[in-house]
Amino acid sequence: MAGSLPPLNRLVPPYIQKIEAYIPSKPDDVLKKMYNCPFLYRMNNNENVIGPPEKAIEAIMDFDPARAAIYPSGDGYHLRHRLSEVFGLPSCSFIIGNGANELIAFVIKAFCWKGDNIITSNKTFAVYEWTAEFSGFESRLVPLKDNTFDDEGILKRIDDRTRVIFICNPNNPTGTYWNEARLRRFLERVDGEQIVVVDEAYAEFVEQPDFPESMRLIREFPNLVVFRTFSKIYGLAALRIGYLAGDRSVVDVIRRTCVVYSVNTLAQEAALAALGDDGTHIARTRSLIRASKEYLLPELDRMDLPYISGEGNFVMIRLPFSDTLAYRRLMRKGYMIRTMTGFRFPNHIRVTLHDVPVMEGFVDALRNTLA
Ligand SMILES: *Cc1c(COP(=O)(O)O)cnc(C)c1O
Repeated sequence: MAGSLPPLNRLVPPYIQKIEAYIPSKPDDVLKKMYNCPFLYRMNNNENVIGPPEKAIEAIMDFDPARAAIYPSGDGYHLRHRLSEVFGLPSCSFIIGNGANELIAFVIKAFCWKGDNIITSNKTFAVYEWTAEFSGFESRLVPLKDNTFDDEGILKRIDDRTRVIFICNPNNPTGTYWNEARLRRFLERVDGEQIVVVDEAYAEFVEQPDFPESMRLIREFPNLVVFRTFSKIYGLAALRIGYLAGDRSVVDVIRRTCVVYSVNTLAQEAALAALGDDGTHIARTRSLIRASKEYLLPELDRMDLPYISGEGNFVMIRLPFSDTLAYRRLMRKGYMIRTMTGFRFPNHIRVTLHDVPVMEGFVDALRNTLA
């Protein structure tokens, strides 16, 4: 037929052919109609239910709409300088990204070429694995051990084509973490041969004194790259902003793969303002999470539901039936959870912690679902 295309698959690389696109959740208004629920609590993305810090709210309100016409700072100039003050590293040690998600791609693009591999875990934030796979690189998935990244197992899988190792610390979804001694030992054994990325999306939630001060370790281990995000405790997920820190020699390489202007002005200014919070916001959030766990975990015990709970603003629960069925039943009651089969935890759901009154409603709904 004139004008028709030859089979499109011919143009699609084999590693793309086998991939299925990620299907994001639908907007609230659509979901409320679909499930006929009067309200909807999002407990699927580990957002901060308190929202952004007061100062970030002010920065957003003060944003002059006329500035929407002007491109943002292409390298997050002021934010990088502020991060430099906060962490005592030079401003050129930071790269700002459109969420930590974008930074994963920057690092893989910077260091991997044909035939290379990355190493991560089988039960962690899946974007490291996905980004490697859709870029045509092998991801080696080392099973968690005691729900924690298995350092010995990872070291055994390293070969001369391994370029990047991704450690999620604390781990989403198990909440486990490597303390400073363990991270240090691992970095010593890697001995600078690979880039080690430590994704600290939930670092600000951790109150344990032995959690690594990874920003300091960068000076000792120049192959260490640290990810942080404003999406979780800072409550700016909608604005899409995160950053990485590393030794300037490593960051200079990563910067070559960056998409300039991917981080908008409003995000940069809200993030900058968020860093100016005097600690009230983090303290408030931590205390809400503590109270929420103190309420939820004994309730789960009473229901005889096993759970995995550690650091971070989420808890994973094992159900006696499929997670997709649980999703539908809980949605009808207005609670949106994350099904975990995709994370290789069949029959598990991950629940973002909200304040106690919301958690009470959730527990009621869950109990109903079990009945
Ligand atoms: C939420 C999350 C991120 C994503 O952060 P964005 O900055 O919103 O892209 C990265 N890593 C982990 C482990 C997360 O849970």
